[in-house]
Amino acid sequence: MKVLVVGAGLYGAVFAREVAERGNKVEVIEKRDHIAGNIYTKEVDGIQVHEYGAHIFHTSNKKVWDYVQQFAEFNRYTNSPVANYKGQMYNLPFNMNTFYEMWSVRTPQEALAKINEQRQEMAGKEPQNLEEQAISLIGRDIYEKLIKGYTEKQWGRPCTELPAFIIKRLPVRLVYDNNYFNDDYQGIPIGGYTKMVEKMLDHPNIIVKLNTDFFDKKDEYLNNFDKVVYTGMIDQFFDYQLGELEYRSLRFETEEKNVGNYQGNAVINYTDAETPYTRVIEHKHFEFGKGNPDKTIITREYPADWHCGDEPYYPVNNERNNALYAEYKKLAEKQDKVIFGGRLGQYKYYNMDQVIEAALKKVK
Ligand code: FAD
Ligand code: UDP
Repeated sequence: MKVLVVGAGLYGAVFAREVAERGNKVEVIEKRDHIAGNIYTKEVDGIQVHEYGAHIFHTSNKKVWDYVQQFAEFNRYTNSPVANYKGQMYNLPFNMNTFYEMWSVRTPQEALAKINEQRQEMAGKEPQNLEEQAISLIGRDIYEKLIKGYTEKQWGRPCTELPAFIIKRLPVRLVYDNNYFNDDYQGIPIGGYTKMVEKMLDHPNIIVKLNTDFFDKKDEYLNNFDKVVYTGMIDQFFDYQLGELEYRSLRFETEEKNVGNYQGNAVINYTDAETPYTRVIEHKHFEFGKGNPDKTIITREYPADWHCGDEPYYPVNNERNNALYAEYKKLAEKQDKVIFGGRLGQYKYYNMDQVIEAALKKVK
């Protein structure tokens, strides 16, 4: 078959590789001037800069972990972000280190007693929004200092107007363990994600065309290929005929500093409401000891409202958008030549391992 893959992000790259392996001819078109989509990394001064935000690979899916080993060697990076609340530093995720820093409690029993005392405020009440959910999970002190400001900046709305589910996945641990993820496997590809995707796309049956937008020749592409895998925005594919899906966007401000070690950690979250950015990434800490010892590169991440034409980072999975997506999905199911995949094609907040799993399943 002749297969067209729209988008050279992770979904498109895995899909392209797998159908190429099975003897099909694949053309990958990408509207940006680079491959790898949002996991794109660019080398500057020997440092791999995560151009579209910090990306840490983590999974409990052994098949996916084994799959990516073909294309990259992973280091043992463990994500341990630190929160800065008005100059006070707190370990994340919420664990014994955080509870010690917050309340000077030293044992799991003391911590639990304090958390239970704080949860009393919500006793007998079913949480109706994110604020109530957070207080019933962890209490007001942690909510006010480590959740409220960050979440309201991130989503651009008060926590009382946000759905409870956003916060449900925050881990709470009664051990001294700052590892952000519970997964069995974690790391960063040595040499960056771009190199990994490059290797995926390096196959005699694959050709890649950059700076090529599917919508410049939509009808021609649909006529000329046996199958089209589309990883762009699903509403755009249908010319927004049912209305626009909404996203949250981000703005990244990157700066080179003449210092070897700027903040001592890869990720520092600013959890107060006044600091306009949510986090500062220091890229060199993702790959230990690499890069110029006297220079470093940092990126401030500013959440932003999304307008048509901006980069769509996070789907806003509220009732209105989920219902609208369900309507687009019905239209998509009628397009028997086209497979809609990935974060934008399926309007779903996928982590990288989930994208790989979904693509492998779809190919089968
Ligand atoms: P994309 O990477 O968006 O790829 C889609 C591609 O299609 C893009 O390159 C786009 O330019 C192209 N395209 C779109 N429309 C067209 C068109 N009309 N014509 C041609 N090309 C087109 N996941 C983790 O597992 N760990 C993390 O730590 C993590 N951190 C994240 C941090 C941030 C700030 C964000 C936003 C996401 C993070 N993720 C993380 C999620 C991760 O980025 C995604 O799972 C993954 O990149 C999705 O891949 P994709 O191929 O579906 O989408
Ligand atoms: N969050 C928070 N304080 C933090 C970090 C995260 O309140 O310091 C909340 C916030 O609502 C965010 C959610 O937890 O939207 C998920 O955060 P995570 O870092 O897991 O997601 P990401 O934005 O990296 O996908």
